[in-house]
Amino acid sequence: MKQGTQRETNPFPYSDTNKRYHTYEYYLRHTFGGRVAKISLDAGFTCPNIDGRCGRGGCIYCSARGSGDFAADASLSIAAQYAAGRALVSAKWQPSGYISYFQAHTNTYAPVEKLRALFEEAISLPDAVGLSVATRADCLPDEVIDLLAELSVCTHLTVELGLQSTNDETALRINRGHTLVTFLDAWQRLRARAPRVRLAVHLMLGLPAETPAMMLESVRRVAALRPDEMKLHALYVTADAPLAADYLAGKYAPIDEGVYVDTVVKALELLPPTTVVSRLTGDAPRGTLLAPAFSARKREVLALIDRELFARRTWQGKHYQDT
Ligand code: SF4
Repeated sequence: MKQGTQRETNPFPYSDTNKRYHTYEYYLRHTFGGRVAKISLDAGFTCPNIDGRCGRGGCIYCSARGSGDFAADASLSIAAQYAAGRALVSAKWQPSGYISYFQAHTNTYAPVEKLRALFEEAISLPDAVGLSVATRADCLPDEVIDLLAELSVCTHLTVELGLQSTNDETALRINRGHTLVTFLDAWQRLRARAPRVRLAVHLMLGLPAETPAMMLESVRRVAALRPDEMKLHALYVTADAPLAADYLAGKYAPIDEGVYVDTVVKALELLPPTTVVSRLTGDAPRGTLLAPAFSARKREVLALIDRELFARRTWQGKHYQDT
């Protein structure tokens, strides 16, 4: 009897390949009718966890560019950064549209009128089909949420909230500068005031002193919120991050690759099938990456995750319980 291929036998509904999770690529293709590229922008923001408003030094993993290492040069205008990003992408493939991605530092940490000018410019650039804004839960006053709600009527808008762990002791250890309660408050106000805005959550695996059970507890709690999008990746150490000193002194050991793959597979099982998984590996800049080495082998890690999902005959949402 003929055996089906991995693709033919894949039971996961939001996939037309062998992927047993809801990839960002699948989502974009089915939302926009073609492939769409994201362009990382740096609007020159800082962060309240760096400039002293809520903390100094930043999260222990924060790089010199505020975790926006792939964004264009902040000294260029938004239009020039976007044009440079388009030129880079279109030299390799032809997207049907672009999403402007405000990634570096905290992209709602400014007066609302400044944000309006930046975001309105970004959504009016040639072939722009969406806007993505990365920020912190403690930088979302109601007037900013109302602006996002207004913009979400005319563009595909995603707000990405860094959380990393739902455990407040971990948040303190990584110098996150806010608690879970702050995150939940912003989440509820975003859902209530800006219902068209898509909400993405970042979690990290391998934070100091966290066990896989603790990591999965964070995933379970976030899954209960039914995020539109999730980003999961291993905590990586770059030479310019505060964590580098602990790593070099042997006080921090990064997550092992096998444990990472196993935990990601279990995490995917806990997520709602409709949640789009837009990242499963870190994007550490090669020049400054200290550890873990597998962070630089993105394709291999993704293939290991695919292989493991198939070997275990499992998929995203297999153990999701709608709470
Ligand atoms: S919230 Fe982002 S920009 Fe701010 S310190 Fe943490 S990683 Fe850096």
